[in-house]
Amino acid sequence: MGESLLISDLHLAGAVPGTLARFREFLEQRAAGTDALYILGDLFDTWVGDDDDNPPAPEVKRWLRALVDSGTPVHIQHGNRDFLIGEAFCEQSGASLLGEEAVVTLSGRRVLLMHGDTLCTDDTAYQQARQLLRNPDFIRDFLGKTLAERTAIADGYRRQSGEATSLLAAEIMDVNADAVAAAMARHGVDCLIHGHTHRPGRHSLQDGKAERIVLGEWHPDRAVYASASPRGLELAQW
Ligand code: MN
Repeated sequence: MGESLLISDLHLAGAVPGTLARFREFLEQRAAGTDALYILGDLFDTWVGDDDDNPPAPEVKRWLRALVDSGTPVHIQHGNRDFLIGEAFCEQSGASLLGEEAVVTLSGRRVLLMHGDTLCTDDTAYQQARQLLRNPDFIRDFLGKTLAERTAIADGYRRQSGEATSLLAAEIMDVNADAVAAAMARHGVDCLIHGHTHRPGRHSLQDGKAERIVLGEWHPDRAVYASASPRGLELAQW
């Protein structure tokens, strides 16, 4: 058993070249040679469909493909910003898409991986908006629009984000403890790793018998990732 790495919330966008450069370095200098890379959602700041080949989509797909071809599998989960990542993206990048709640074995433990937005059940406005956005009919209708129309709609959501809805806002509520306990019980695990809240840290649960590890948001000058190796699970900075 070697080492696997976990990251989330990179929010890659063409307008933030610093984070893109950091991600490329991370793939080439840190992730290469490891057993697997897990991306727990919000790899992209926005994703309006796999046919959008504007930057940074082409280069990110190329970099992931290079990592996969070098022998390190890439597993990706949807985040609230890039939940429209689909089969074409996976085919082109070589990444495999994990379900919303995925149980994997890391450091010899069964670990539940989630993006984390579904755990923020106190944010009822967000959860209502999420239900609408994840509705298969809504998604089919949205993906049926032209790329220009989809981009305009996504930009509209972003402009609204500072106001009533916390859908895309910087202010993200923290997870609800009951929702965390329920998710872990549902899968019979004593370890949960998630992102989304941008509150990186390790939280002891059930009197130390269980643990929740939170990944962090990426910035041009700092990034948080988790390492899973025979030594155990660790949060680290890149
Ligand atoms: Mn998120």
